Amino acid sequence: MTLTVPKVNPVENVQRSSSQLTQFTEFRHYTPRDLDKIPQVKRLNREQRFAMKVVSQVLPFKVNEYVLHELINWDNIPEDPIFQLTFPQKEMLLDKDFNTIADLLRSQAPKDQLKKKIDEIRYSLNPHPAGQMQMNVPKVNGVPLPGVQHKYKETALFFPTSGQTCHAYCTFCFRWAQFVGINELKFASKEASQLMEYLRQHKEVSDILFTGGDPMVMKTRVFNRYLEPFLGKDLNHVQTIRIGTKAVSYWPQRFVTDQDADDFLWIIEKLIKKGKHVAIMGHYNHWVEFETPIAREAIRRIRETGAQIRTQSPLIRHINDDADVWETMWRNQVRYGLIPYYMFVERDTGARRYFEVPLVQAWEIFRNAWKNVSGLGRTVRGPSMSATPGKVEVQGVTEIKGEKVIVLRFIQGRNPDWVERPFFAKYDTKASWLDQLEPAFGEKEFFFESELKEIQSRAMAKAG
Ligand SMILES: *Cc1c(COP(=O)(O)O)cnc(C)c1O
Ligand code: SF4
Repeated sequence: MTLTVPKVNPVENVQRSSSQLTQFTEFRHYTPRDLDKIPQVKRLNREQRFAMKVVSQVLPFKVNEYVLHELINWDNIPEDPIFQLTFPQKEMLLDKDFNTIADLLRSQAPKDQLKKKIDEIRYSLNPHPAGQMQMNVPKVNGVPLPGVQHKYKETALFFPTSGQTCHAYCTFCFRWAQFVGINELKFASKEASQLMEYLRQHKEVSDILFTGGDPMVMKTRVFNRYLEPFLGKDLNHVQTIRIGTKAVSYWPQRFVTDQDADDFLWIIEKLIKKGKHVAIMGHYNHWVEFETPIAREAIRRIRETGAQIRTQSPLIRHINDDADVWETMWRNQVRYGLIPYYMFVERDTGARRYFEVPLVQAWEIFRNAWKNVSGLGRTVRGPSMSATPGKVEVQGVTEIKGEKVIVLRFIQGRNPDWVERPFFAKYDTKASWLDQLEPAFGEKEFFFESELKEIQSRAMAKAG
């Protein structure tokens, strides 16, 4: 990493005009078709440009002018973390897949032939990891709610239909299947009213988590349809409204200069005045994302409503696989009033082979960053895998009676009783996901496995 963080960077409490905050207040974006039109991309050589075109046939690509001009440092290509975060790279595909698509493009193969290959490759990339399709779709009065995922008792996830896209796409994203038009895999919600009915019937839900894509791509007018019902008494039990978003990074204008920015902040404030806790779950993968004036202004304005901003990110090779990056990220987040929340392990999907960091190394990076920040930065947990049985954290490496082991624990479990019980896997420097780990001490399976199988077969039977 050649970039350095400004040492003194106080949050200024002065109103600045939007032209001082950013050059870009009108949202304009580029998709695979426009790759060649991006001025900075024209500076790359032909081979690089062609490689991008090939990869963007399979994996999602979308970038906007703000990300292009204000977040990516074009003097640091290809290493720049935000370039890696948003632009397709050759190595994201297997050589054989890359060559297949490259040949089809070069020979100008018919569209349907190309599409067939693309779909094949996409399906081979595990578009829906962690059994999400089969196991987590709840029902209300017998009708499935494909836009709701209710895995852990207290928290329901909701994917609003109109929030199934983002202001730019992350190359590592496990939601990539939604963006590239594999329709039957799309979690789409029919109606806000169905969600509310579900919540009214489930008094155990204390948290609703709006997710996407990015729910902040919705106009406030649309989002309000989902938010306003929470002002009502019948949803008193839902205490916390979380909004997972990367707009704080990719389009902070959403909270500052967009026409309906104030309206959004206003509804948030209203919910808070009604006694709700509102948490913006900000996806920041690197500290450069919150160092621009507009990003800082977005943070200031969100916090002014009384909402909290908690932060999360996966650990991703080529983007943030460096303890210094995390240390700076957490330190500066605390300085700006953000609360570090999760470090995730990159999921078993998409271009994982390009991004994955082995679990032992992930823990080392976590530890080396964590040990250097104050207690206020140590609110973060991780590295955590969102796997089929639950969220599993790598707690560390140790030796027990001569056997080197990886210590794990559930932060969230399909059965809440699994949570916070340490368990042990054989030491393995290569493993990068839970299913690659083996139980330590010669045991046949992990303590939760037989119960998980039962839960799974019950869920499958129910889903019919
Ligand atoms: C992470 C996650 C949640 C929220 O868990 P918290 O520990 O409360 O942040 C809820 N549902 C699913 C499916 C999740 O993966
Ligand atoms: S913003 Fe979130 S949902 Fe959108 S591409 Fe990035 S990681 Fe995926």
